[in-house]
Amino acid sequence: MRFCDLALSIEGTPLKHRISTLYSELEDHGLRFKPHIWLSEEWFTPDEVPGFAIPFYLAHPRLARLERKQMLEVEGGTKRDCLRIMRHEAGHAIDNAYRLHTRRRYRELFGSFATPYPDWYKPKPTSRDFVLNLPAWYAQAHPAEDFAETFAVWLRGSGWRRHYAGWPALRKVEFIDDLMKEVSRRAPVNKSRERIEELSGITTTLFEHYQRKREHYAFKWPPDYDRAIKRIFVSEPNHNSAPAAGFLSRHRRELCHEVAEGTGAHHYAIDQMLSHMINRCRELKLRVDPAQDRTWQMVLVSLTIQTMNGILSGYHRIAL
Ligand SMILES: [Zn+2]
Repeated sequence: MRFCDLALSIEGTPLKHRISTLYSELEDHGLRFKPHIWLSEEWFTPDEVPGFAIPFYLAHPRLARLERKQMLEVEGGTKRDCLRIMRHEAGHAIDNAYRLHTRRRYRELFGSFATPYPDWYKPKPTSRDFVLNLPAWYAQAHPAEDFAETFAVWLRGSGWRRHYAGWPALRKVEFIDDLMKEVSRRAPVNKSRERIEELSGITTTLFEHYQRKREHYAFKWPPDYDRAIKRIFVSEPNHNSAPAAGFLSRHRRELCHEVAEGTGAHHYAIDQMLSHMINRCRELKLRVDPAQDRTWQMVLVSLTIQTMNGILSGYHRIAL
């Protein structure tokens, strides 16, 4: 099935209501600006466009199920996550609408908008120079992402002053607070209504799309869990305890979910790593240690460490 043949629209879906919520938040903050929004393959705000794209799978429950089946997660699938991402995209959109990145203070606080996008970024999880909105310390990916994330935190509104008290990142939110007061009195400089890669014009098929997407999110770091699994499981063939591979398979979903929540890495990458781990346990004929009652927690810690190693060595999760 080609995207252009899906005949989807935002009208009549829960997206309509979520977009209204975003627009009300902007209004409540005194902003007249409303980004235009259309359906495409993924979440993104194109360069120079004061609007953003929402992925097609949020416009139909059957496509959301397909997304979950192919990618093991639906990015923006819940109202809460959807709004988090929409606030972020609205940040890019308003940046483009008023060309905010050309200001000196923007450059001083966030860095240069013109910095080339890196293929990967190496986040510092303990840094207080950046706010937290999307997973994987995304504000650290690029100055434009830092601005969008800071805008999202500001727009969400509830208690950023208290939450970021004492953080150097507070200066960035305060800057946006002042900037938006000024901007609210003016009409946007860039009034383009351009829609880039709108779904109705895309001839790619769902099959090709998911082939590419799975390739993109595959883990690209060499996990080294042999030592860890040998410490967690035992190799005595005489034990009548459960095989380690079966144990991991039973807990696969839960483990994958926990590690994704904690690290911000994509479910698909973690699941793939777990699948390798399961095969390795099978090859080594490992079994659950009957004397160990915290096997689940030990696997969780080990997977989290492997995933963090991947993130710190430059695994790039998303480009929103
Ligand atoms: Zn972004």
